[in-house]
Amino acid sequence: MSLEGKIAIVTGGSRGIGAAIADGLGEAGAIVIGTATSESGAAAISERFASKNIQGMGQPLNVTDADSVAALMSVVSEKYGAPQILVNNAGITNDNLLMRMSDEEWFDVINTNLSAVYRLSKACLRGMMKARWGRIVNISSVVGQMGNAGQSNYAATKAGVMGFARSLAKEVGSRNITVNSVAPGFIDTDMTKVLSEDQKTMMLSAIPLARLGQPEEIASVVKFLCSDDAAYITGETLHVNGGMYM
Ligand code: NAD
Repeated sequence: MSLEGKIAIVTGGSRGIGAAIADGLGEAGAIVIGTATSESGAAAISERFASKNIQGMGQPLNVTDADSVAALMSVVSEKYGAPQILVNNAGITNDNLLMRMSDEEWFDVINTNLSAVYRLSKACLRGMMKARWGRIVNISSVVGQMGNAGQSNYAATKAGVMGFARSLAKEVGSRNITVNSVAPGFIDTDMTKVLSEDQKTMMLSAIPLARLGQPEEIASVVKFLCSDDAAYITGETLHVNGGMYM
């Protein structure tokens, strides 16, 4: 699954699933731009890449800020050229029962997890269309499929990116651009570290494979979707959840 020389942007590449995806694409030969929310986080990504002989760099990005996206796009195109792979991985949770949810809690999650996917995809598409080759992969969630009390905002975004991918796939398929989603179950990252022991025990009892997933187990599926081996898969969601939701 060589991605030799492909230019890839991975949002939220500083830690967790995004770091594993950035490293996985880089180890397959892609030139990776991994984004972090701060300059120091971006510098740490550049150092990590250098230590692993991965081509590319870290760049600061706030996915909710149109100017920040524009700045990223201009740095990437100047230094490497138009991105051919976009992995929309950055995401947050801000949980509350709907009746207690503030507008801020709702829109923070919508802006970060859903509107940013619109903005970044649009920014990358022109170059992909010109090149007649492109891969967009959105990181969704099992919660987008199953729902979860206290996560109506998060679930709406994660179901949203699946529908977005299905629709965009129909718009750009004729240009040889695929748009897919990967829906992880519960993965061992900072996002799940905040769960209580009780919540973890309950979750594990619902996972047939009886363990949390590892970030690398999501990264390998993203790498597959970006490769030529997956050239005929588009508009699809691949569920990587230990058998959880069935
Ligand atoms: P994480 O909290 O470790 O990483 C989230 C990443 O998003 C970080 O790199 C963070 O800097 C970045 N980010 C957050 N807000 C941002 C913003 N405004 N601009 C730019 N970057 C921003 O969590 P993770 O578990 O690695 O999650 C990665 C993705 O996987 C998310 O979309 C998450 O919803 C999804 N996911 C995670 C799990 C899980 O169990 N961990 C399950 C399903 C889906």
